[in-house]
Amino acid sequence: MSKNNLARAAENDIYSRLDEAIETTVKLYAGRNDLEGRFPRENLQALAAAGWTGVLNELRFGGLGLSHGDFAEAAYRIGLHDASTGLIYVMHVGAAQTINLFGNDDQKERWLKAKGGTLLGTYSTSERASGGHWWYNFSEASRDGANYVVNAEKSFTTSSGHADFYVMQTRSPGAKDQTDISFFIVDGKAPGIEAGPWEALGVRANHSGPIRYTDVKVPSRDRLGAEGQGKEIIYDGVSPVYLIGLGAVWEGVARGALNAAVAHTSSFVHKDKNKNLSDYQAIRQELGAAKVLVETLRPWRNELAAKLDELWHAGKPQSEILIPLTEFKVHAAEVANKVAAAALTVTGGYGYRRGPIERSFRDARAGIAMGPSNVIARDWIGKSLVGLPLELFYEGGE
Ligand SMILES: Cc1cc2nc3c(=O)[nH]c(=O)nc-3n(C[C@H](O)[C@H](O)[C@H](O)COP(=O)(O)OP(=O)(O)OC[C@H]3O[C@@H](n4cnc5c(N)ncnc54)[C@H](O)[C@@H]3O)c2cc1C
Repeated sequence: MSKNNLARAAENDIYSRLDEAIETTVKLYAGRNDLEGRFPRENLQALAAAGWTGVLNELRFGGLGLSHGDFAEAAYRIGLHDASTGLIYVMHVGAAQTINLFGNDDQKERWLKAKGGTLLGTYSTSERASGGHWWYNFSEASRDGANYVVNAEKSFTTSSGHADFYVMQTRSPGAKDQTDISFFIVDGKAPGIEAGPWEALGVRANHSGPIRYTDVKVPSRDRLGAEGQGKEIIYDGVSPVYLIGLGAVWEGVARGALNAAVAHTSSFVHKDKNKNLSDYQAIRQELGAAKVLVETLRPWRNELAAKLDELWHAGKPQSEILIPLTEFKVHAAEVANKVAAAALTVTGGYGYRRGPIERSFRDARAGIAMGPSNVIARDWIGKSLVGLPLELFYEGGE
């Protein structure tokens, strides 16, 4: 076998492991987990066993060492069946990638490689006090000798109460201003962590509830990057991988809703007319319009993912494409909402009943609210269009 064929065979094998994990867990349990608001730990275990929770991690730390394109493809394939697991996956890979980019070997060893790469991570950034301005913290770490203590009330954290570690953002001890931010890897089992309940319209299985950190001790070896490096980490660590992954999940939700709508409309027969629903032109118009929307996402995703890899390997800041990534997130969330609504329209009362179509409609709404919300994001895009700075850390005023 030639070198190229060998590489292709290995890639096929890696992807067949991903598909098997999705087929045997994610797809199977999505409905039940939504209904019961049950955290899908077994899905993440299956994805970890297949190696995919370490998709971007280096081989020497047990990862697959793959690309942003592969990560986004996995997020998309998971999102096809279950948005909740998709978001958990994205937050995990995002947290891991923040460690890949800003952590040291000891941290990679203990949080990424340990226990066969099965530890689950997430981001904990948003605070009640600053709402959707999730980059802006009021909480502040303090010192405990050479170590740290964190106190914070985080309003939303995906996988809260279930994560093995939180990539947590707060002001540095004695911060000189609001841009003086530090990141910590907080052990999920540390005393003082209290996760609140998660009851929501959609993505009901992902436990994105509030979480409180009360006098939580963090050893200095779990500070991520340098004290005060948080602003850079927000731009170049947290945001890029999160935005591409989030968009990919919503693309999956959109395609999943369309697939379900096509399956129903082309199989359900009106016996009085002896016609499928898809025999009506009006129904095909809806499906066609939805398909056009879905098709806009894949090439855009692949292009952005390739650019992220290029910047990463060149050691350049990935925030160079922050605005295009934000545009992709906005569009993907809107496409998911529009396609899920179209799927409900063409499937009538059938789609309205408990099941994957109404679930996609509820799940997709989260995409609009998740940071940066589509409202905030459009303002960023508009500002960049007319040459205004984002002024994320500007206090007061617009
Ligand atoms: C399912 C889900 C999962 C999440 N997971 C995580 C996570 O893992 N980690 C994490 O840290 N956070 C997470 N979040 C939080 C998320 O990123 C946002 O921070 C949060 O949804 C903001 O909600 P809020 O009610 O505080 O918004 P608010 O700030 O109160 O917003 C209310 C409304 O005002 C608008 N608005 C806010 N600011 C402006 C502005 N400057 N200009 C114009 N309009 C504005 C918003 O768009 C929205 O329409 C999650 C949220 C959801 C829904």
